[in-house]
Amino acid sequence: SSSNHSFDVVIIGAGPGGYVAAIRAAQLGFSVAIVEKDKHLGGTCLLRGCIPTKALLESAAVYEQSKHAADYGVVVSDVKLDYEGVRKYKHKIVIKSAKGVEYLMNKNKVKVFKGVGFIEDPHTVSVTSGDTKERLSAKFILVATGSVPRDIPIFPTDGVRIINSDHALEMTELPASIVILGAGAVGVEFASVMARFGVETTLVEMLPRVLPIEDAAISAELERALRAQKIAVKTNTKCEAAAVNDHSVAVTLVDGNGERATLQVEKLLVAVGRRPISAGIGLENTRATVDKGGYIEVNGFLQTAEPSVYAIGDVINTPWLAHVASAEGIVAVEHMAGHATEPINYDRVPSCTYCEPEVASVGLTEAKARERGYEVKVGSFPFAASGKARILGQTEGMVKIVSDAKYDELLGVHIIGPRATELIAEACVALRGELTTEELMRTIHAHPTLSESVMEAAHGVFGSPIHI
Ligand code: FAD
Repeated sequence: SSSNHSFDVVIIGAGPGGYVAAIRAAQLGFSVAIVEKDKHLGGTCLLRGCIPTKALLESAAVYEQSKHAADYGVVVSDVKLDYEGVRKYKHKIVIKSAKGVEYLMNKNKVKVFKGVGFIEDPHTVSVTSGDTKERLSAKFILVATGSVPRDIPIFPTDGVRIINSDHALEMTELPASIVILGAGAVGVEFASVMARFGVETTLVEMLPRVLPIEDAAISAELERALRAQKIAVKTNTKCEAAAVNDHSVAVTLVDGNGERATLQVEKLLVAVGRRPISAGIGLENTRATVDKGGYIEVNGFLQTAEPSVYAIGDVINTPWLAHVASAEGIVAVEHMAGHATEPINYDRVPSCTYCEPEVASVGLTEAKARERGYEVKVGSFPFAASGKARILGQTEGMVKIVSDAKYDELLGVHIIGPRATELIAEACVALRGELTTEELMRTIHAHPTLSESVMEAAHGVFGSPIHI
């Protein structure tokens, strides 16, 4: 059977890009449809990414803290991990959040079409679900199809021994040992969970340091902390082969000196990046183009070479982050509505890794700032000198501020330590408001808080923090 409907905006994909764009489009007065092939709304972020991983990380944190409860004068006996309980906790949060997105779609009168979306022409999307095909005509089409985990062709994932993040989240039992390939956010977060769950964990990175996009000082501090948690960190190391046996996988690693070693482990988790979903969605029926990596090409307002077709999120070549997808969704639909929006400044996008200790940053690293020709001044403050960090029992890490010597422009804020991913928000506002480092330094912060450490690091730029 087939039927026809007509909308101002038809969005393909209900991840944090698509569903946020749908809400904003409805707020702007557009009639909106969203097409999703998954059973639930929410996309990678909500079902297989941000949300379930953070639930696992929280279980790991509670487990770890319970083990050390005596340090706080609290007696907790017989602390153990109930992995089935961990899975249930994660599942409950994911389902609640997916229901929340459904509620928001209803509340904003966004029509949800469950099925596979396909662009028939620049103003038509078809939705196929089983034998049913519906045709949606649209003034504008927004592609928010996201991405899937990238395989390594010479040893593709089998879902059992060689796995990706989707599989890792569905494991029904913990392995005794795991090798994680890739020390980006996903790899580091899984390493942080697995190690605290008692899994013998090896983290392998081809580049010279963990979280290679972060400031070098932060990477160094994190590597030290991960090693202290008994994670075997192998940087400058490549995985050459992975051979699956009955009960394990033999992982061959080659280090920077060409030395080979083979590890027998229960699981190999491949976390080397993601691939955009731009093929098979009918882009060829429009003038929209894709680059060599398969990313859809867009202008600053997320518009493709086909004026009625926009693309946002993981399917375009901007950082793989939920908040980027959402921000792009808002800019795209505001542009459709003819609102004078400004393009996104990607230098001001926060990047967060929710491992232990957490890492968060916004703006330029010290190296990037120098590369761009700034005369750089830096300041830093260790959490070991923070009263609040001491109260929390989490004194690892620091805040580092990168500032421009000439005009005192605040260029970057880099944090490793307790609640780093929350602390970074004030730095985002400061950069957005183009504050000078002195203005940040003179902003009164409440005592005792972790946030004082940001102010203290700003003091550091002008000589020395107060509490050092
Ligand atoms: P997606 O979330 O991938 O959503 C795309 C949707 O489109 C999917 O639901 C898909 O089913 C649907 N779709 C695709 N093709 C079609 C079609 N033809 N028809 C209908 N529907 C279709 N980011 C953060 O900011 N913070 C984090 O903590 C974080 N943690 C992560 C942890 C992991 C393990 C992973 C894998 C990712 C994490 N990310 C995190 C990244 C984040 O999940 C993505 O950047 C984000 O989900 C991208 O949003 P999106 O809307 O572009 O795409």
